[in-house]
Amino acid sequence: MTRVYLALGSNLGDRLANLRAAIASLDERGIAVTARSSAWETPPVPAGQPPFLNAAVAAETALDPPSLLRELKAIEHALGRRPGPHWGSRPIDLDILFYGDVRIETPELTIPHPRIAERAFVLAPLSDITSGPLPVIALAAIDLLERTGLQGAVRRFAL
Ligand code: ATP
Ligand code: CA
Ligand code: CA
Repeated sequence: MTRVYLALGSNLGDRLANLRAAIASLDERGIAVTARSSAWETPPVPAGQPPFLNAAVAAETALDPPSLLRELKAIEHALGRRPGPHWGSRPIDLDILFYGDVRIETPELTIPHPRIAERAFVLAPLSDITSGPLPVIALAAIDLLERTGLQGAVRRFAL
């Protein structure tokens, strides 16, 4: 089993329900969720679309990274995600942040996710479920978050 960290985001439909349904689906697909963050509402990037609710989970899985990505895409599809503009609105987005201590760089998959350190909307949820140094990056989410600064209004919801 490998410890993984996943990022979840939703800015269409019932966002909280979408996040919860995605987490329930993870458990059903061999991705056993062991910790979940709060849901953080942050201003959308890029601006001009509805605000996102973002969360992060820790999970244990026996799936290899390509299989894990396939499962995440199947869950996105089942929850109504259809191909659209990069960084556009979507009912659910599921990203692999970390897969154990592994580094991967293929056309389909970059792990750790390349934009973790600059994204408050990823770091804030990660700081809910981690305290020490993050895998590979070896810096704590809370310290990275301080550098980024959480900009704009932020609300938190129980997930
Ligand atoms: P971003 O990656 O900046 O958060 P995004 O989530 O909007 O952008 P998508 O359109 O959801 O991007 O995904 C595009 C492709 O990114 C996916 O089809 C997948 O192959 C690839 N990808 C690469 N690395 C990862 C990763 N760590 N987690 C999820 N998808 C990844
Ligand atoms: Ca994403
Ligand atoms: Ca994605």
